[in-house]
Amino acid sequence: MKVIVVGSSHGGFEAVQELLQDYPDAEIQWYEKGDFISFLSCGMQLYLEGVVKDVNTVRYATKEGMEKKGVHVFVQQDVTAIDPAQHQVTVHNLVDDSTRTETYDKLIISTGAVPIELNVAGKDLDNIYFMRGRDWAMKLKRASVEPLIKNVVVVGSGYIGIEAAEAFAKAGKKVTVIDVLPRILGTYLDSEFTDVLADELENNNVTLALGERVQKFVGENGKVTQVETDKNTYAADLVIEAVGVKPNTEWLADTLQLNPDKTIKTDEYQQTSQPDIFAVGDATLVKFAPTGKTAKIALATNSRRQGRYAVKNLNKATQPTPAVSGSSALSVFSYHFASTGIKDATAENYQTKVASVYLEDTYRPAFVPAEQNAKVQFKLTYAPEDGRILGAQIMSTADVTADINTISLAIQQHLTVNDLAYADFFFQPGYDRPWNVINVAAQKAQRQLLN
Ligand SMILES: Cc1cc2nc3c(=O)[nH]c(=O)nc-3n(C[C@H](O)[C@H](O)[C@H](O)COP(=O)(O)OP(=O)(O)OC[C@H]3O[C@@H](n4cnc5c(N)ncnc54)[C@H](O)[C@@H]3O)c2cc1C
Repeated sequence: MKVIVVGSSHGGFEAVQELLQDYPDAEIQWYEKGDFISFLSCGMQLYLEGVVKDVNTVRYATKEGMEKKGVHVFVQQDVTAIDPAQHQVTVHNLVDDSTRTETYDKLIISTGAVPIELNVAGKDLDNIYFMRGRDWAMKLKRASVEPLIKNVVVVGSGYIGIEAAEAFAKAGKKVTVIDVLPRILGTYLDSEFTDVLADELENNNVTLALGERVQKFVGENGKVTQVETDKNTYAADLVIEAVGVKPNTEWLADTLQLNPDKTIKTDEYQQTSQPDIFAVGDATLVKFAPTGKTAKIALATNSRRQGRYAVKNLNKATQPTPAVSGSSALSVFSYHFASTGIKDATAENYQTKVASVYLEDTYRPAFVPAEQNAKVQFKLTYAPEDGRILGAQIMSTADVTADINTISLAIQQHLTVNDLAYADFFFQPGYDRPWNVINVAAQKAQRQLLN
């Protein structure tokens, strides 16, 4: 069997790993149009902040290492078209500009997503950057140590925008974050948490310009100098656009059925609308466990899982890809937060009725001195009709983020507040209180449900 995998990031890498395990005799061809395989954008902040020194280590695998395992790795080779009837792909070799066709028995597409570019005046000026992939990582790193770059404007206050803001603030730049929405990190956290993080950012020399729409980039000598919004003008020697991603699927529009948002339509076995063609990762949708419906949640974790399941179902559709809760975590200066599932702020997007309990407590018993006993904020969201767990958020200056994985599992297993209220979680004063914060919140939700 000959399998072609397109794209060398999370989804493509995991598909190749599973192929090596499940089909050791398969001929595997792995294509990447960039000049580097398996760069991890997730590690970009650590590289920008100097925790990781060498950009070339921010990866899963090397070409040489994968070739030793018998994988045929092709870099700077762009797969430009698919002929499903002939089971053929067209490959454009970007080094010598030649084109050839390759046949496949099975094809796995993980071509991911690309950053959305704001379509405003001045968008082609120099020093307007994006934060995705190795090339941008290296450009951003150079900018972070360039003394002439003093004012940095980040457009977008989601996960990636906040990572960029923190990295450049730590590099000594004056950072302004602009977002059209009134709150930062609005799809991850409710206001009890984002109010604290907004203060934390402001206390660390990051200015927040929320509820403002970027209208124009202004420049001099071809370089950006200012960002104009509907309300203000900000000095900018560098702009980092982090306003979301769009699936990298334009080249597939005539070949595969796409969803209205241009992601590739797949079934729960990652099978596309064409036989023997599978798709995974940010170019597809996932099944969202709290609703049971598909959703666009661009995370490495989802891409990796789908890459594995595409291969598990390669010859027979037997194992549906598990639904996900959309769990993620991030640190913002001294805070660590994690969230999963539905929040009050996102309930309407999912057309779901929710109820929530919110609590603040210390994470260890009261007798532990305050300097070793950080405050924890926790919010549990559930279905008001039956108490089914739908989501949760946690934040502290201590790292208690792993609790969110428990909630993620509870969502996937359709557990209710009754299941969590007295669930057996460990107690040891070094780590925890006699009742874990999850128990306490679920007990509170039980009482709320009775009223
Ligand atoms: C700054 C940043 C931080 C992040 N942090 C996290 C995190 O902490 N946790 C988390 O879960 N997620 C995180 N993510 C999201 C995560 O990186 C993505 O969900 C993940 O990379 C998606 O993987 P993918 O395989 O679908 O595609 P992508 O990562 O988009 O990669 C697609 C690859 O395919 C190649 N390609 C595209 N078209 C072709 C073609 N026609 N022929 C050949 N090659 C092609 C591209 O060059 C690229 O290398 C982060 C993202 C960013 C940008």
